[in-house]
Amino acid sequence: MKSCLLLDMGGVVLRVGSTEGLPESRIDWRGRQAMLAMLAKAGARLTLEDLDGLLFGPWRLDHARRHDLVRDARWEPHLDRLCTAAGVDLDRWELLDAWFRPYGDRLVPEFGVHEALEQLRSMGKRLAVVSNVPLPGQFYERILEHHDLRRHFDALFFSYDLGTRKPSPAMLRTALAHFDSTADQALMVGDRRAADIAAGRAAGVESVWIRSPFDNGPEPDHEIGSLAELPALLESIETG
Ligand SMILES: [Mg+2]
Repeated sequence: MKSCLLLDMGGVVLRVGSTEGLPESRIDWRGRQAMLAMLAKAGARLTLEDLDGLLFGPWRLDHARRHDLVRDARWEPHLDRLCTAAGVDLDRWELLDAWFRPYGDRLVPEFGVHEALEQLRSMGKRLAVVSNVPLPGQFYERILEHHDLRRHFDALFFSYDLGTRKPSPAMLRTALAHFDSTADQALMVGDRRAADIAAGRAAGVESVWIRSPFDNGPEPDHEIGSLAELPALLESIETG
């Protein structure tokens, strides 16, 4: 019997629209303009080049090492550098949010997610998000709340907050401990084999791959086309 389901977020619950789950091109530009406007309001005259040199450039260098370090790059030192150079003392996360919001506001639930989560809960399953994210979890929790998805989850585990990323099994183990569950009572569901299926393997948790272009990595135990197919898969697993 599978009593708890550990769900990856991007490509499973939310459609993220970019490979890295970060603002790109025009949306990125709009976010940077909003960040500059917030800085200008606080009295700092900065340019797009300044933002790149003080914040995004150095952060990108750290971000590029996330796979090696198996944790996400911290924003804090770079936001501190920016605020110091600008001579302002703004709330760091409000400043980052000015950049992220135009992108975050565009994220929408994946196909059939509301119905699937309702159905899984009515089957008595306990649900958690176990997600690699490049920003603090609060940014994503707000998006889940906005789409009325937050209430389905008993707990949210975000890599940024926990200082570890999949394919490390650490977040999955934290989730299992939260549910007081053993690995064989859980199922890990994700769209990236190298992260989600590998983490499931490492934690000894059976895995379900949601078919996607991210097919490099270990073989999953099961595969489906979307979360909408998970209730039927679970029934077939449990009736064996
Ligand atoms: Mg994903």
